[in-house]
Amino acid sequence: MLNIIICGAPGSGKGTQSEFIVEKYELKHLSTGDLLRNEIKGKTELGVIAEGYISQGQLVPDKMIIDIIIKNIDEQPETCKGFILDGFPRTVGQAEALEEILNARNKKSTVLLDLNVPEEELISRLLKRGESSGRSDDNLETIKKRLDVYYSQTAPVAEYYKTLNKYAFVEGVGTIEEIFDRISSAIEANK
Ligand code: AMP
Repeated sequence: MLNIIICGAPGSGKGTQSEFIVEKYELKHLSTGDLLRNEIKGKTELGVIAEGYISQGQLVPDKMIIDIIIKNIDEQPETCKGFILDGFPRTVGQAEALEEILNARNKKSTVLLDLNVPEEELISRLLKRGESSGRSDDNLETIKKRLDVYYSQTAPVAEYYKTLNKYAFVEGVGTIEEIFDRISSAIEANK
C-alpha cells in the first residue's frame, strides 16, 4: 500500500500533480481543501463553520479536519491501494494524528513529497487561478495570509517527516511533466 503525502505552499501544484499520481499508482485522492469546499457548496453546518476560516486564509481547527480524514480513510473498500493526501497534514498536530490513525489500522505513511516553488511564482499562479476559480481565498490579501500560515504552521510538518526519514524534496518549477518525473522518481525511491 502506498500512502503518499503531497505538501507544498498554496499554488505549488499539489492538486495538479495529485491527479497524475492517482492515475499512475491508482490511489484514492483525499484533498482536504476539496472536501471542505464540497461541504461549503452543500451548505452543511460544517461547511458554514469552515467557510469562516477559509475566506480569512486561516486553517480550520485540527479536530475538524482529523475527523474528516478518519471518516474518508475508513469508508474506503478493502481493495483500496492507498491514498494521496493532498493538503493534509498541515500542522504537526495533524501529522502526529495521521501517523496514529494509520498505525491503528496497520498502515504506514510512505513519504512526504515537499513541492518547492519560489514565493513570487506562487503569488502569480494563485492570482491567475483566482481569475477563474471563484475561490474566496484566491485574492492578494488572503493569498499573503495563506503563505504566512504555510510558513509558520505547515513548513514544520516537512521537518517532522525528515525526522521519520520519510521526506523527499521536489523542485516544483518546470513543466507539469518534468515535475511529475521528479515525483515518480521520489516515490520509486521511497516505496
Ligand atoms: P487548499 O485547497 O488545500 O489550498 O485548502 C484551502 C483552505 O482549506 C486552506 O487555506 C484552509 O483554510 C483549509 N484547509 C484545507 N486543508 C486543511 C487542513 N489540513 N487543515 C486545516 N485547514 C485546511
